[in-house]
Amino acid sequence: MKQPTRYHDLADPQALPRHTGIASFFRAPIATAAEEADIAIIGIPFDGGVTHRSGCRHGPRAVREQSCLLRRINADGVAPFRNTRVRDLGDCWLEFPYELQGALDEIAGFYQRVLGAGAVPLSVGGDHSVSLPVLRAVAAHRPVGMIHIDAHCDTGDDYMGSRFHHGAPFRRAVEEGLLDPARVIQIGIRGTTNDPAMWRFSRDSGMRVLGMDEFQDRGWQFALAEARRVAGSGPVYLSFDIDSLDPAEAPGTGTPEAGGIRVIEALRLLRGLAGLDFVGADLVEVAPPFDHGSITAFNGASILFEELCLLSAALEARRQG
Ligand code: MN
Ligand code: MN
Repeated sequence: MKQPTRYHDLADPQALPRHTGIASFFRAPIATAAEEADIAIIGIPFDGGVTHRSGCRHGPRAVREQSCLLRRINADGVAPFRNTRVRDLGDCWLEFPYELQGALDEIAGFYQRVLGAGAVPLSVGGDHSVSLPVLRAVAAHRPVGMIHIDAHCDTGDDYMGSRFHHGAPFRRAVEEGLLDPARVIQIGIRGTTNDPAMWRFSRDSGMRVLGMDEFQDRGWQFALAEARRVAGSGPVYLSFDIDSLDPAEAPGTGTPEAGGIRVIEALRLLRGLAGLDFVGADLVEVAPPFDHGSITAFNGASILFEELCLLSAALEARRQG
């Protein structure tokens, strides 16, 4: 209905006053078909894989709301909306959410259609179990590398009768041939445990586990260099669990661990990954019921914007390559 009469730049949705409009991701146009998108930002409001404190099914809405604060260009000059059709594809909601493996199959079917339409997916969970069905679509034709930032390796196994909870997706992904463990790095790992061998699968399979002690001792620049070395030049997926951040900056999550990554370190680490061949990314485990003043959703939206910049830079490189 309303058109600008003097400030024609306002026709650009990212230039509109940020408190206006329907809260899509980054105020991007809402699409109903993946064919309309080069990069499809998708909410997955599902937390049926959570083992303890649920609530991240509410993550996509909170991140959409806070993402309105982000602008068009990042600190390194990456402008993801300039040459790329970035669209909010809405939510991958579930028709049958109460049976875990069936729900994950339903998510995989949705993402197969997204990939089939040629769109690159940027997902907002939801709990970390959703990364497995996303990878089933993204890595359907060849295994991919992964940069995984998290307080937990998520390479566990059976827990109370399930092998598909949010602490196990990347073990399943290796077993299903979706991940090349030699090209996987896990950054930010820490915390107490009931079993000293809880994450042994990560090291035994050949993943690089860069724990929080090493991260603090050697710095984010070293973690960045290691991530670039391990991921190499092949296709790579980026998975960011918000509980990798220090609980002071991300209290709104189900499984916080003391002593995490600062958000400034995470943002600089992500910006430094530009140039890798990213084929998909996600942000998971933002749980608004535990948040304070939306700090977690806001920091999550800020992380998500850097992921969007990485995907758009990789898409541009593939177009030119
Ligand atoms: Mn996780
Ligand atoms: Mn975690």
